[in-house]
Order: sequence, then C-alpha cells, then structure tokens
Amino acid sequence: MSRSVLVTGGNRGIGLAIARAFADAGDKVAVTYRSGEPPEGLFGVRCDVTDSASVEAAVDEVRVQHGPVQVLVANAGTTRDNLFMAMKEQDFATVVDTNLLGAMRVAKATVTDMVKARWGRIIFIGSTTAFWGSPGVTNYAASKAALVGFARSLAWELGPRKVTVNVVMPGLIETDMVAGLSAEHRAYLHSITALRRSGRPEEVAPAVRFLASDEASFITGAAIPISGGSGLGH
Ligand code: NDP
Repeated sequence: MSRSVLVTGGNRGIGLAIARAFADAGDKVAVTYRSGEPPEGLFGVRCDVTDSASVEAAVDEVRVQHGPVQVLVANAGTTRDNLFMAMKEQDFATVVDTNLLGAMRVAKATVTDMVKARWGRIIFIGSTTAFWGSPGVTNYAASKAALVGFARSLAWELGPRKVTVNVVMPGLIETDMVAGLSAEHRAYLHSITALRRSGRPEEVAPAVRFLASDEASFITGAAIPISGGSGLGH
C-alpha cells in the first residue's frame, strides 16, 4: 500500500535518508525544505517549522498532491550549543521552538486527518542526549526530552483511533549537524558507544519505516534508541 508520508527536514541528513527509504518502498513522500531546491525525485514543500502558517500551508500542499498525511516523520531539528552560563536565552528558545514546538506544529496540522481516517503513524526524531545529557546542550537535551513526554501523552490520546506515536532516538550520526565535532570529541563519543563508531543516516531510516508499518501496530509511546549502544537506560 502506498501511503502519504511527510518528512520534515527531509532535504538532507537523517531526514533525507528516511524520505528515500519510504520512497524506495513505494510510498508517496513529501519532504520539507527551507531554502534552495528540494532533493531530486522527491516532492518538496517549502516550510519553516517555527512558523505555524508555513507548516499549515505545507501540509495543505501535501494533502492536494498526495492526499492527507498518513505517516508523519517530525525530523527537522537544530542546535545552538554553548555552556549554559554563556547561552543566550534566544539560543535556548530557538532550539525549543524548532525541535519541540516545530514537532508539535506539524503534528497539530496532520493529526485531524489521521484521527478521521482511524489510522496514522507519528514518529518524532529525538536524541539519546534527551536522557543522557551532555555539556553544552542544555537547550537541545531539554527539547528532545520534552518530545518524549509529548509523544507519550499524545499516544494515549490517539490510541483509541489507531494512531501510534513513537520517538526514535539516534546516537551520533554523521551529518552536517555533527560535522564540526573535534576529532577528540568524536573519539570520546565512539569510546562510550558499544559499537565504537558513529552511525549513518541510512541506519536510522529502517527503524522509522518499521514504526510506520502495519507490523508495528502494537507499538506506541516507545522511545527507541538507534545509537550503536550509546545512551542506554531509559
Ligand atoms: P542536519 O543538520 O543535517 O539537518 C537538519 C534538518 O532540519 C535540515 O533538513 C534542516 O532544513 C531542518 N530544519 C532545521 N531547522 C528547521 C526549521 N526551522 N524549519 C524547517 N526545517 C528545519 O541534521 P541531522 O540530519 O543530523 O538531524 C535530523 C534530526 O535528527 C534532528 O532532529 C536532530 O536533532 C536529530 N538527531 C541527529 C543526530 C546526529 O548525530 N546527527 C543525533 C540525534 C538526533 P534546512 O536544510 O532547510 O536547514
């Protein structure tokens, strides 16, 4: 069955790998992008997840092109790392606005269609940092931890309508987001990862696709680490 899938931030990194995995399996995939061009072969809708009107317009475009969103992957995310004492309030707010409120906005814009259809899949991209913590990422860890509480409460609300809500929590995955890590810090992160390496975006996508499948019909409110064994214990 070909579903209408929306991946926010699906123009690069983990989001692009997820979008391609769904497209390769035959789904109708839309990705959001903020500037430039959408990736080749995928339907792109311009969207800034910090702007409700932009999110609603993007979801409307998807509805016209592919039908109501049946699978939402809220992947768009950002960082503004700094030690807390030096962190500007605006940098804390921007990260929460993008990672938490952005996910909330896309869920809000798509959930009514899922409830009406009595079927839907919402997958938030969290982070192992949510529960693990790390210096310099108070804003990011707070936004990602909050996603779990949000997802679990939403799972309760939507369960009776056969809409599942889960969080996939990647560990260190080699994308633009972590390109600036020093060699020392990367080596340290590998040393506290059971598989002793970083992951690739293509290693996150299969778990997301599984959660969106009919086989995952009894999984909701889960927070699943895809981390090579780092940041376990939640
Ligand atoms: P990238 O920096 O490669 O990509 C981030 C994506 O988010 C881009 O598509 C970007 O769009 C989009 N985005 C950022 N802000 C906005 C916004 N305001 N509105 C719309 N889109 C936005 O990062 P990753 O692929 O690594 O990250 C994807 C997700 O995975 C994020 O949620 C991140 O927190 C999470 N994650 C990543 C980890 C890693 O190690 N890489 C580890 C754990 C979690 P644009 O191109 O327009 O900027």
